[in-house]
Amino acid sequence: MKKSQRAMSRGPPNVAGQEGDLVELQPKQPTAKGPDEWFTGDVWIDGIVRGEEPSRVRVMAVRFTPAARTAWHSHAVGQTLYVTEGRGLVQARGGQVAEIRAGDIIYTPAGEWHWHGAAPDHFMTHLSITEAVPHDQRPEADWGDHVSDGEYGHR
Ligand code: MN
Repeated sequence: MKKSQRAMSRGPPNVAGQEGDLVELQPKQPTAKGPDEWFTGDVWIDGIVRGEEPSRVRVMAVRFTPAARTAWHSHAVGQTLYVTEGRGLVQARGGQVAEIRAGDIIYTPAGEWHWHGAAPDHFMTHLSITEAVPHDQRPEADWGDHVSDGEYGHR
């Protein structure tokens, strides 16, 4: 068998030092429902990357049903969103509600309060790329109020 085939096999995880430990098919965790404290509407989350120290990277695919959105929140080390599907909305506190579409990249600096979600009549999926805080000094995100229908519809 070629090395690449062995490396991508669905067998048990490769042990460091063995041949084929460079590429590893990761176990798939179940899709999780976005908690009601943090979201309005139905949102589903797939974890993709959770780096082990010294890496602190966090990557998730987040699927929003029409009109579903996050609550107001901020990220300790900022956030990059990459919209992979559909149409959505994003707003920074004090700013306008902006439309986002597949292919858009949205960066939110550390500590900036904002929300993001699907458009009223479209699904939206984005990748969320964040980092944990070094040594877990504080939460990766701070969460506030839900985005009211008035705020959501204010365009
Ligand atoms: Mn965010």
